[in-house]
Amino acid sequence: LIQFPYSTILVLGLAKSGTAAAKTLLANGKRVRVSDMKAKEADDVVLELRELGAEVIIGTHPLDALDGIDLIVKNPGIPYDNPIISEALKREIPIITEIEIAYYLSDGPIIGITGSNGKTTTTTLIAEMLRNSNQPVTVAGNIGVVATDTAQHVTKDESLVLELSSFQLQGTIDFKPNTAVLLNIFEAHLDYHQSLENYVKAKCNIFKNQTNDDYLVYNAEDKTLIQEIKHAKATLVPFSNKRKVLDGAYVEKGYIYFKEEEIVAIEDIVLVGEHNIENILAAVATAKLNGASNEGIRRVLKTFTGVKHRLQYVDSVRGRLFYNDSKATNILATQKALSSFQKPVILLAGGLDRGNEFTELSPYLGSVKAMILFGETKYKLKELAENEGIKNIVLVDNVEKAAQEAYSLSQEGDVILLSPACASWDQYRTFEERGDMFIQAVHRLV
Ligand code: ADP
Repeated sequence: LIQFPYSTILVLGLAKSGTAAAKTLLANGKRVRVSDMKAKEADDVVLELRELGAEVIIGTHPLDALDGIDLIVKNPGIPYDNPIISEALKREIPIITEIEIAYYLSDGPIIGITGSNGKTTTTTLIAEMLRNSNQPVTVAGNIGVVATDTAQHVTKDESLVLELSSFQLQGTIDFKPNTAVLLNIFEAHLDYHQSLENYVKAKCNIFKNQTNDDYLVYNAEDKTLIQEIKHAKATLVPFSNKRKVLDGAYVEKGYIYFKEEEIVAIEDIVLVGEHNIENILAAVATAKLNGASNEGIRRVLKTFTGVKHRLQYVDSVRGRLFYNDSKATNILATQKALSSFQKPVILLAGGLDRGNEFTELSPYLGSVKAMILFGETKYKLKELAENEGIKNIVLVDNVEKAAQEAYSLSQEGDVILLSPACASWDQYRTFEERGDMFIQAVHRLV
């Protein structure tokens, strides 16, 4: 933290990232005050932080906690309209998230990935491609690993691959990745960022400090993005799934290319879905720029079955291909999943009833030969399936039974797809639990 220009710091919110930030700052000789709404006097973390010399305020975020403070480290979940944040803005106290601290701690090259969708998939692909090219990498950030904890152990020649949310990026000042990846910008989280403009600005913080020694890998088909990157100073590296972009990654005649080089045949890639081709293009460009070998990249694309629960290839049982897309908790995600297959599909769907209709699924049901339905929404989905003229409709009690039923109706070559279009909470604690139940049921069929 040698160049870190602050001395008295308020850490707001003691989740995993706040705790890590407070400890790191204390270890680096900074004065630290912590404020958390939910912590209790007797909590281990409160006792530990006090022991280490922090002043800990719990139960409120009083405005006088700002007195004498020259920096705030904010949990990404605390919105900017929180009174203490508004007051801090008035007093012109800089506000960061722990990503900024991770930046100051890390010695090695940083690869940062952001976008409205596809972050986790692309982050994982990049890390795997580098690993398979015998390059040391560490993954952290929004993917569920606190960046501050990880960054201090990263060595000079190790790449730190960071998945970055817009909430994290909004709190950056000097943060600069050597390679930034901008996947796409859709309208999202507008409640937090208050306007699309603020959301776009937060995402674009990823490249604001870059210079032409750095790379900015971006989606050349995203209209919002191409407007924004006009301000970028980094070396631009586009990717496109629609046309040949000779200075970046693209698809031609069934192959993925980076610049003039043929990297891999699309038919050899395990991941399915048009959206995943975009993620793969971004990952290939980033991996190549960071020294990955074509062999390493190919090995990953020929074996990587997807991030768990996101259109993940599970297994094949006597020629039936099973996919787990339990993360599809809304109609849009299931539309994406259905557009990913040309083969006949048996769709497993249903779950929590949010009161919506499912008619927006209709245009995507062309290749669906059977629907196995469960959960609160099964009757609504049955009506939709009947209206679409789907002959095989079966109602079952849960995902496990759905997997068995689908198998008994299936033929060799069919895709059996769990993509519920609904949240899981009517029957399962999380979409992960629902997906795990499905995977277990598939393995029992094997
Ligand atoms: P994130 O980490 O940004 O939430 P994930 O990689 O976990 O993204 O993917 C979550 C879901 O987002 C996928 O199941 C898919 O429906 C959708 N998705 C993934 N990549 C893209 C993309 N490049 N464009 C549009 N949608 C995508």
